[in-house]
Amino acid sequence: MGVWANLFDFLDSNASSPVVERKTQMALLPILHYPDPRLFRRAARVTAVTDEIRRLAADMAETMYAAPGIGLAATQVNVPLRVIVVDVSEERNELLTLINPEIVDRQGEVMSEEGCLSVPGIYGQVPRAAQIRVRAWNEEGETVEFEADGLLSVCIQHEVDHLEGRVFVQYLSPLKQERIRAKLAKRARMTA
Ligand SMILES: [Zn+2]
Repeated sequence: MGVWANLFDFLDSNASSPVVERKTQMALLPILHYPDPRLFRRAARVTAVTDEIRRLAADMAETMYAAPGIGLAATQVNVPLRVIVVDVSEERNELLTLINPEIVDRQGEVMSEEGCLSVPGIYGQVPRAAQIRVRAWNEEGETVEFEADGLLSVCIQHEVDHLEGRVFVQYLSPLKQERIRAKLAKRARMTA
């Protein structure tokens, strides 16, 4: 009890402390919708993991959780840098922030049913590698390397595609892509 009272005192008397400020500065970012041409740009490598990059990643995570989604690429929030956030856990407590992610090995094949925050309400079957090996920087700028399979593997492949300017609907047949464009255009007109 005393601990909490002290904590609240601390928060009250330190309203402008860096920790509190960082939290209040976090923001939901607007998500670009297919077929916005900015989704088809190739993102640039991050040269150094700065506070700005960490703030971008924090805002992206907040945006992903609020959507809700299991992954988000910086491309989708109109920042053409190679940053992705992913959380495929049930409890939504296993956030993975990957900077300059590279898929260095792919094994096997799966068909995955995918959706995308940039293509709301649309789902499709996409061919993916079953297992991947990923190399990236973490938020401290350290190189991490790990293997992924299942949903995590599919999600990382989907997000790395965004960094290459690829949206999952581009794996679907031209006819299906045309139908999706028409549907989204109609929906945009109706909500305009
Ligand atoms: Zn997506």
